[in-house]
Amino acid sequence: MILKKILVVSAHSDDSVIGMGGTIKRFTLNGHEVHVISVCGDRIVGFEDAMKLLGAKPMYFQYSYGKINQHQLSEDLRKVFQELDPQIVFTHWDKEILYDHQIVSEQTVRLARTFEKQIYLFEIPASSIDFDFDVAVDITQFFEFRKKAIELMKDAFEEKVYLKEILPSIVYAPGFRGIQVGCEFAEVFKYCGSRFPLAPYRKKLLDIASI
Ligand SMILES: [Zn+2]
Repeated sequence: MILKKILVVSAHSDDSVIGMGGTIKRFTLNGHEVHVISVCGDRIVGFEDAMKLLGAKPMYFQYSYGKINQHQLSEDLRKVFQELDPQIVFTHWDKEILYDHQIVSEQTVRLARTFEKQIYLFEIPASSIDFDFDVAVDITQFFEFRKKAIELMKDAFEEKVYLKEILPSIVYAPGFRGIQVGCEFAEVFKYCGSRFPLAPYRKKLLDIASI
Protein backbone atom coordinates (compact mmCIF):
# COMPACT_ATOMS: atom_id res chain seq x y z
CA MET A 1 0.00 0.00 0.00
CA ILE A 2 1.27 3.43 -0.89
CA LEU A 3 1.03 5.65 2.16
CA LYS A 4 -0.71 8.93 1.66
CA LYS A 5 -0.34 12.44 2.98
CA ILE A 6 -3.75 13.75 4.00
CA LEU A 7 -4.71 17.32 4.85
CA VAL A 8 -7.83 18.14 6.86
CA VAL A 9 -8.84 21.81 6.82
CA SER A 10 -11.44 22.80 9.39
CA ALA A 11 -12.65 26.19 10.58
CA HIS A 12 -12.64 25.41 14.30
CA SER A 13 -10.80 23.07 16.61
CA ASP A 14 -13.77 20.70 17.15
CA ASP A 15 -14.86 20.40 13.50
CA SER A 16 -12.33 17.80 12.40
CA VAL A 17 -13.30 15.53 15.32
CA ILE A 18 -17.05 15.96 14.69
CA GLY A 19 -16.64 15.48 10.95
CA MET A 20 -14.11 12.67 10.86
CA GLY A 21 -12.44 11.83 14.20
CA GLY A 22 -12.82 8.08 13.72
CA THR A 23 -11.65 8.24 10.12
CA ILE A 24 -8.54 10.21 11.12
CA LYS A 25 -7.69 7.49 13.65
CA ARG A 26 -8.20 4.78 11.01
CA PHE A 27 -5.94 6.62 8.58
CA THR A 28 -3.13 7.11 11.08
CA LEU A 29 -3.30 3.53 12.39
CA ASN A 30 -2.87 2.44 8.79
CA GLY A 31 0.31 4.47 8.57
CA HIS A 32 -1.00 7.45 6.62
CA GLU A 33 0.18 10.92 7.59
CA VAL A 34 -2.69 13.20 8.60
CA HIS A 35 -2.29 16.94 9.12
CA VAL A 36 -5.21 18.80 10.68
CA ILE A 37 -5.61 22.57 10.48
CA SER A 38 -7.89 24.62 12.69
CA VAL A 39 -8.19 27.93 10.87
CA CYS A 40 -9.36 29.66 14.06
CA GLY A 41 -6.69 29.79 16.71
CA ASP A 42 -9.01 30.62 19.59
CA ARG A 43 -10.96 28.01 21.59
CA ILE A 44 -7.99 25.79 20.96
CA VAL A 45 -7.60 24.27 24.46
CA GLY A 46 -6.96 20.54 24.19
CA PHE A 47 -6.73 20.55 20.38
CA GLU A 48 -3.13 19.38 20.29
CA ASP A 49 -3.82 16.59 22.81
CA ALA A 50 -6.90 15.50 20.86
CA MET A 51 -4.95 15.32 17.62
CA LYS A 52 -2.16 13.42 19.36
CA LEU A 53 -4.73 10.88 20.52
CA LEU A 54 -5.88 10.46 16.92
CA GLY A 55 -2.30 10.22 15.68
CA ALA A 56 -2.59 13.41 13.60
CA LYS A 57 -0.34 16.44 13.35
CA PRO A 58 -2.14 19.62 14.47
CA MET A 59 -1.68 23.09 13.05
CA TYR A 60 -3.68 26.25 13.65
CA PHE A 61 -3.86 29.75 12.25
CA GLN A 62 -4.52 32.89 14.26
CA TYR A 63 -8.01 33.79 13.03
CA SER A 64 -10.88 34.33 15.48
CA TYR A 65 -14.37 32.87 15.39
CA GLY A 66 -16.49 34.78 12.87
CA LYS A 67 -13.57 36.93 11.73
CA ILE A 68 -11.80 34.99 8.99
CA ASN A 69 -10.31 37.17 6.26
CA GLN A 70 -10.78 35.05 3.16
CA HIS A 71 -8.00 36.63 1.09
CA GLN A 72 -5.47 36.18 3.88
CA LEU A 73 -6.78 32.65 4.46
CA SER A 74 -6.27 31.83 0.81
CA GLU A 75 -2.63 32.90 1.08
CA ASP A 76 -2.06 30.97 4.32
CA LEU A 77 -3.60 27.82 2.86
CA ARG A 78 -1.66 28.17 -0.38
CA LYS A 79 1.60 28.01 1.61
CA VAL A 80 0.43 24.84 3.37
CA PHE A 81 -0.55 23.20 0.06
CA GLN A 82 2.86 24.07 -1.42
CA GLU A 83 4.92 22.98 1.58
CA LEU A 84 2.96 19.86 2.52
CA ASP A 85 1.86 18.72 -0.93
CA PRO A 86 -0.85 16.32 0.31
CA GLN A 87 -2.53 13.85 -2.05
CA ILE A 88 -5.94 13.97 -0.36
CA VAL A 89 -7.79 16.93 1.15
CA PHE A 90 -10.79 16.88 3.48
CA THR A 91 -12.78 19.98 4.36
CA HIS A 92 -16.24 21.31 5.23
CA TRP A 93 -19.40 20.65 3.26
CA ASP A 94 -19.94 23.46 0.75
CA LYS A 95 -23.37 24.62 1.93
CA GLU A 96 -22.98 25.67 5.52
CA ILE A 97 -25.10 27.79 7.82
CA LEU A 98 -21.92 29.00 9.56
CA TYR A 99 -19.92 31.62 7.68
CA ASP A 100 -16.56 30.31 8.97
CA HIS A 101 -17.31 26.80 7.64
CA GLN A 102 -18.51 28.20 4.33
CA ILE A 103 -15.39 30.34 3.78
CA VAL A 104 -13.03 27.52 4.74
CA SER A 105 -14.81 25.10 2.41
CA GLU A 106 -14.72 27.54 -0.53
CA GLN A 107 -11.07 28.44 -0.17
CA THR A 108 -9.90 24.90 0.48
CA VAL A 109 -11.83 23.39 -2.44
CA ARG A 110 -10.58 26.12 -4.77
CA LEU A 111 -6.95 25.47 -3.82
CA ALA A 112 -7.38 21.70 -3.84
CA ARG A 113 -8.66 21.99 -7.42
CA THR A 114 -5.76 24.28 -8.37
CA PHE A 115 -3.24 21.83 -6.96
CA GLU A 116 -5.11 18.82 -8.42
CA LYS A 117 -5.89 17.01 -5.14
CA GLN A 118 -8.58 14.48 -4.36
CA ILE A 119 -11.30 16.21 -2.31
CA TYR A 120 -13.74 14.90 0.28
CA LEU A 121 -16.26 16.99 2.24
CA PHE A 122 -17.28 16.11 5.79
CA GLU A 123 -20.50 16.73 7.70
CA ILE A 124 -21.18 18.91 10.73
CA PRO A 125 -24.71 17.89 11.83
CA ALA A 126 -25.54 21.29 13.37
CA SER A 127 -24.60 23.38 10.35
CA SER A 128 -24.38 21.38 7.09
CA ILE A 129 -27.46 22.11 4.95
CA ASP A 130 -28.82 19.34 2.69
CA PHE A 131 -25.77 17.18 3.33
CA ASP A 132 -25.39 14.37 0.89
CA PHE A 133 -22.77 11.60 0.94
CA ASP A 134 -21.45 8.92 -1.34
CA VAL A 135 -18.61 7.43 0.71
CA ALA A 136 -18.79 6.02 4.24
CA VAL A 137 -16.11 4.86 6.67
CA ASP A 138 -16.92 2.20 9.28
CA ILE A 139 -15.59 3.69 12.53
CA THR A 140 -17.15 1.16 14.91
CA GLN A 141 -13.75 0.21 16.33
CA PHE A 142 -12.71 3.85 16.60
CA PHE A 143 -15.81 5.48 18.05
CA GLU A 144 -14.25 5.71 21.52
CA PHE A 145 -11.26 7.63 20.14
CA ARG A 146 -13.63 10.15 18.60
CA LYS A 147 -15.37 10.58 21.94
CA LYS A 148 -12.17 10.81 23.98
CA ALA A 149 -10.73 13.35 21.54
CA ILE A 150 -13.66 15.73 22.02
CA GLU A 151 -13.58 15.23 25.80
CA LEU A 152 -9.98 16.48 25.77
CA MET A 153 -11.25 19.70 24.17
CA LYS A 154 -14.32 20.33 26.29
CA ASP A 155 -12.83 23.26 28.24
CA ALA A 156 -12.42 25.19 24.99
CA PHE A 157 -16.18 25.68 24.69
CA GLU A 158 -19.07 27.10 26.69
CA GLU A 159 -20.59 24.27 28.69
CA LYS A 160 -23.99 24.79 27.07
CA VAL A 161 -22.57 24.58 23.54
CA TYR A 162 -20.49 21.55 24.42
CA LEU A 163 -23.38 19.64 26.00
CA LYS A 164 -26.16 20.61 23.62
CA GLU A 165 -24.39 20.76 20.28
CA ILE A 166 -20.87 19.36 20.19
CA LEU A 167 -21.24 16.21 22.29
CA PRO A 168 -24.54 15.07 20.67
CA SER A 169 -22.92 15.55 17.24
CA ILE A 170 -20.08 13.31 18.32
CA VAL A 171 -22.27 10.63 19.88
CA TYR A 172 -25.42 10.43 17.71
CA ALA A 173 -24.38 11.27 14.16
CA PRO A 174 -22.19 8.17 13.62
CA GLY A 175 -24.98 5.91 14.93
CA PHE A 176 -27.51 7.39 12.48
CA ARG A 177 -25.06 7.13 9.58
CA GLY A 178 -24.16 3.61 10.69
CA ILE A 179 -27.82 2.55 10.40
CA GLN A 180 -27.89 3.93 6.86
CA VAL A 181 -24.76 2.17 5.63
CA GLY A 182 -25.03 -1.05 7.63
CA CYS A 183 -22.53 -0.90 10.48
CA GLU A 184 -22.69 0.28 14.08
CA PHE A 185 -20.94 3.63 13.66
CA ALA A 186 -19.96 5.43 10.46
CA GLU A 187 -18.66 8.78 9.25
CA VAL A 188 -19.78 9.85 5.80
CA PHE A 189 -18.29 12.03 3.08
CA LYS A 190 -19.05 13.59 -0.23
CA TYR A 191 -16.37 12.73 -2.73
CA CYS A 192 -15.73 15.65 -5.08
CA GLY A 193 -13.33 13.90 -7.41
CA SER A 194 -10.04 15.36 -8.47
CA ARG A 195 -9.11 17.77 -11.19
CA PHE A 196 -6.64 15.27 -12.58
CA PRO A 197 -7.65 12.83 -13.83
CA LEU A 198 -11.13 14.31 -14.26
CA ALA A 199 -13.56 11.75 -12.86
CA PRO A 200 -16.03 13.21 -10.35
CA TYR A 201 -17.91 9.94 -9.84
CA ARG A 202 -14.94 7.62 -9.63
CA LYS A 203 -16.00 6.32 -6.20
CA LYS A 204 -19.36 5.30 -7.59
CA LEU A 205 -17.87 2.51 -9.71
CA LEU A 206 -19.72 -0.68 -8.85
CA ASP A 207 -17.37 -3.52 -7.98
CA ILE A 208 -19.06 -6.40 -9.85
CA ALA A 209 -16.57 -8.95 -8.50
CA SER A 210 -17.61 -8.33 -4.92
CA ILE A 211 -21.31 -7.70 -5.38
ZN1 LIG B 1 -17.05 24.87 13.44
